[in-house]
Amino acid sequence: MPNLIDGRAIAEKVYVDLRREIAELKAQGITPGLAVVLVGDDPASRAYVRSKDKMCRELGLHSLKLELPASTTQTELLNRVEQLNADASIHGILVQSPPPVHIDEAAIVRALDPRKDVDGFHPENVAKLVLEDATGFVPCTPLGVQRLLIESSVNINGAHVVVLGRSMIVGKPLALLLMQKNAEGNATVTVVHSRSRDLVEITRSADIIIAAIGRAGFVKIDHVRQDAVVIDVGINRVDDAATERGYRLVGDVAFDEVSKKASAITPVPGGVGPMTIAMLMSNTVKAARQSL
Ligand code: NDP
Repeated sequence: MPNLIDGRAIAEKVYVDLRREIAELKAQGITPGLAVVLVGDDPASRAYVRSKDKMCRELGLHSLKLELPASTTQTELLNRVEQLNADASIHGILVQSPPPVHIDEAAIVRALDPRKDVDGFHPENVAKLVLEDATGFVPCTPLGVQRLLIESSVNINGAHVVVLGRSMIVGKPLALLLMQKNAEGNATVTVVHSRSRDLVEITRSADIIIAAIGRAGFVKIDHVRQDAVVIDVGINRVDDAATERGYRLVGDVAFDEVSKKASAITPVPGGVGPMTIAMLMSNTVKAARQSL
């Protein structure tokens, strides 16, 4: 059996450090505050917002949950963002994705104060990631993947990392993060996507495979070289009549077969997911610290 990378246990370690830092900030009169804005009533988004709010409360952060109707206009939402930008008790702002179709999500992201953009999607923060400016905010899932690797003592330095997927929220920032010229980066990164030729040959040359494509069980045993490390970012619903909900969540990796060949692998759920929320808390605390 390979080494199972336990995202929940590693997230708990992150929270131990954060609790200490939050206590220090409170001693200086600052309670880090996170505002999460939800437009509409998508059940999955609602569940994400609830879990973020719950985690803020558990850590003793100031949490503001703004639930707006699906009919909210672009102008109304921009006004809300402006209010939050100006609110000194709020250090991080997150507008839950995806908003209703009549909302221009990119325009909302651009309206955020980049110093409060704890999702790391504002162009200024994207630029800071490219420039390796550590004052910027890196998107939470890539940051969580890097932390999982570090805490699991996986050697990133000089390793060949193959990232499957080139989205702006996972694949692209992850590639930039792991190729940074520092002790937590220095990887040789290859990014593959739906147009890549010879994908299997490329993934088979990876020391570390990170799958973020949103295709259930896509990465099979033949994609993986013996003793590679496999990180599964994917969250996919597959029908399962045996469960109460009628579905279960699986990753982008065919866990049962790939785990026979990998030296270490993340499960779904319980791998990358808990780290994403831990990094959101971490980015909020960083925003509060940088506001001093
Ligand atoms: P997107 O749909 O935005 O991007 C998917 C990427 O995968 C694209 O670059 C696409 O290529 C590529 N792709 C799709 N099909 C294939 C294929 N057959 N072969 C190779 N590449 C392919 O997805 P996200 O990045 O937003 O999310 C990816 C997965 O990660 C999803 O399952 C999502 O639910 C999950 N996720 C999990 C998080 C967590 O906290 N654990 C957080 C965020 C996402 P192309 O660009 O050519 O279209």
